[in-house]
Amino acid sequence: MATDRLSITKSTLSHKLMVLYALMFILPGGFLLYVILDLRNAVLNPDATLSLTGISLHIGVPAAILMSCAAFALMYRSTRKIHSITEEAGSFYKEIHHGTSAMPREGDEEGDEVQRISHYVTDMIGELRRKINDVDQYAQDLDQANRKLMEVAVVDGMTQLYNHKHIRHLLVTELRRAERFSHPLAIMMIDIDDFKKFNDSHGHLVGDRALRDVSRTIRNNVRTVDVPARYGGEEFLVILPEATIDGGVLVAERVRQAIEEHAFDTGRGIRKARITASIGVAAYEGAPVTDSDLISQADTRLYDAKRDGKNKVISS
Ligand code: GH3
Ligand code: MG
Ligand code: MG
Repeated sequence: MATDRLSITKSTLSHKLMVLYALMFILPGGFLLYVILDLRNAVLNPDATLSLTGISLHIGVPAAILMSCAAFALMYRSTRKIHSITEEAGSFYKEIHHGTSAMPREGDEEGDEVQRISHYVTDMIGELRRKINDVDQYAQDLDQANRKLMEVAVVDGMTQLYNHKHIRHLLVTELRRAERFSHPLAIMMIDIDDFKKFNDSHGHLVGDRALRDVSRTIRNNVRTVDVPARYGGEEFLVILPEATIDGGVLVAERVRQAIEEHAFDTGRGIRKARITASIGVAAYEGAPVTDSDLISQADTRLYDAKRDGKNKVISS
């Protein structure tokens, strides 16, 4: 420090202690040795004694006093600093522990400053570790919440299939990929027949359960690469990557049959209900088409199927 008059070039604590050691032991010890030798000389050679002993005493004693003073000043300043660091560490510890005093430890009160600082630092490192763990936990929770939020944004809550918005987004992507690699792509639009009547006969709760059953039936009868979604009320859109129109019709027919054969639980004992669905199929097979074109083609064919008596698959 610039203001520290006693600072030495490398003012680490160990350097200061070495200077202290030199001032308090090595230099006075050397001087004592010199006086002993001087006195021995005086006994052996009485003529030279007086002047030599005089010089050693006149220069040596004030020098020893000066060294002791310097050593005391250096020690005083260092201990003052250690003391103030201890105080600061103590009050910082209280601050981060919301006013509670440092964790009581045996010998803390009468323990020296270095011991107390070491306790404070150890406790603070422990606290820091706990806080880092807390932050890690918060980050994990946040990550999980974000994932849930993402899921809620793309998944239909009732059927657990993708929702309208997401399937439209996926269709654009899949169509682009199909065009880029010159692969076919089919879609099918499924609409449950007379579902209003079903609701009127069995109630909306049974209708909801039937919608979930239909969703499961669709999912179980398409390939894993196919992407089913709830397009709206009782309508479903399925993307069939790599499928031609004929391939799409095969899958659609399988789905139609599975829905027709499924016995829906009405919640009234063993009474089961039947549901049918009409399906319109459209495909990209090289001719330029937009995602909206594909959907409107599938939609038109679906309504053709309705007009044609329902429970049918139409692809042209
Ligand atoms: P169509 O054969 O011509 O398709 O006749 P539909 O009765 O199925 O079609 P319409 O469009 O007349 O009625 C659709 C019905 O679907 C009416 C509505 O109450 C029912 N619906 C739509 N969403 C839900 C739902 O989330 N739960 C239930 N229980 N019913 C729903
Ligand atoms: Mg409908
Ligand atoms: Mg319908």
